[in-house]
Amino acid sequence: MQVLSVASEVYPLVKTGGLADVAGALPLALGKQGIAVKTLMPGYPAVMRLAADAVVRRTFGSLLGVEARILEITHQGLDLLILDCPELFDRAGGLYLDTDGKDYSDNWRRFAVLSKAGALIAQQGLSGDPGGWRPDLVHVHDWQAAMVPAFMRYADEAEVPSLITIHNIAFQGVFSAEIFPELELPPHAFSIDGLEYYGSVSFLKAGLQASWEISTVSPSYAEEILTPEFGMGLEGLLSHRAANLTGIVNGIDTDVWNPQTDRLLAANYSAASLASRAENKQRLLERFALSGDDGPLFCVVSRLTWQKGMDVLAETIDELVAQGAKLAVLGSGDMALENAFHAAAARHPGSVGVVSAYDEPLSHLMQAGSDAIVIPSRFEPCGLTQLYGLRYGCVPVVARTGGLNDTVIDASPAGLSAEAATGISFGAVTAENLSRALRRAVRLFKDQNIWTGIQKQGMKSDVSWNSSAALYAGLFSEILARKGL
Ligand code: ADP
Repeated sequence: MQVLSVASEVYPLVKTGGLADVAGALPLALGKQGIAVKTLMPGYPAVMRLAADAVVRRTFGSLLGVEARILEITHQGLDLLILDCPELFDRAGGLYLDTDGKDYSDNWRRFAVLSKAGALIAQQGLSGDPGGWRPDLVHVHDWQAAMVPAFMRYADEAEVPSLITIHNIAFQGVFSAEIFPELELPPHAFSIDGLEYYGSVSFLKAGLQASWEISTVSPSYAEEILTPEFGMGLEGLLSHRAANLTGIVNGIDTDVWNPQTDRLLAANYSAASLASRAENKQRLLERFALSGDDGPLFCVVSRLTWQKGMDVLAETIDELVAQGAKLAVLGSGDMALENAFHAAAARHPGSVGVVSAYDEPLSHLMQAGSDAIVIPSRFEPCGLTQLYGLRYGCVPVVARTGGLNDTVIDASPAGLSAEAATGISFGAVTAENLSRALRRAVRLFKDQNIWTGIQKQGMKSDVSWNSSAALYAGLFSEILARKGL
């Protein structure tokens, strides 16, 4: 089976969040299942730097009015189709935000063009010639690629079966209706069962309507987004399409994230040599200017946002410190939240440390040296940091939502006695509930037998892509079977 994946970020080339991890790891895991994936992505500067020896596969004189080329390279096992379009992607800022941190005003065009290229490759083949490479199925990720099935739906050529994966329904790609004519779609596409969304254009909505099948990144989130609390306005449409909606939990790259071989650690270790984690903890305490003692070290590796419940964590810090715990925070995001953590660090020198940065190497050391990772998300489609935590013996303390609910087993008396517990979870995200969960974690940590039991159980969890890739492969086959292929 041949699949075209379309994504706006792909690890290890460019990444702002979990989407990149998935778009980078899933093709490799599917490859092991005999599914050949080519991934179409934008030619950002960091990507173009790798494309010196690329093969030009196709030249478009005008994609929605913009000149572009498709280049092909292989990079770390990934077969990449790069949309070379300097006018849209050769920018000094980030992937989506300019140097002032504002959305690029032409984001709609940047990702409509990406999607248009994806649709043309799917329907006409990579080179546009009848004999060239063509996918059996298109797998698109999030709003940035959501217009691929929509462009296919309104084109003259036959549609190619499609799957759209929602990584976070909070991001929908909603733009003014004024852009609609520029999308070169027939007028009836601006309708309630097409792109129209409360008088605006919604790329995600268009993709959810047009895609053959819809998936999201955990079974719990697949149910949650059918409700007004989590559906962010799309719960009605999703409920209508519920028969075509599934949840598949993300895996992680267990080669990149392997405590036995990870070169970013001070000391490697396995479940059989957990004592070696102490060296990583020591390195971390130094890095965050924290004093060393017997207390547990909690960490955060996260965007500092409301979604992640970071405001609630900030409220509980004083109580956490009063119990003899330490907190190391690696993250950036909302200024108000960054300031709240810096203020906590100033109040509790030696007990709370903050690094406001995006630092991938440090994130590995955090998982290897901290005793627990705190993830009090208000919603979490899947979440990756709890999976890294499980693999590294860094016990996840999580809100019981979305993928956190599906991947962490609470250290309740029943969970402990069944030797199934892998972390600590709590219900509604309030300061009181989080405090109670953190108190429970501190208490469990004091009994090192129990704590190492939880760590070891977590390290046994299958967080690899193997089973999830098999589920995607099964879903692909089902979609093709429906078409009679
Ligand atoms: P989201 O995609 O919503 O941000 P996920 O948990 O799915 O959340 O994925 C976040 C990814 O980004 C993880 O790989 C995590 O390790 C990484 N990450 C988040 N913040 C930082 C940071 N400040 N430094 C390094 N890595 C980070």
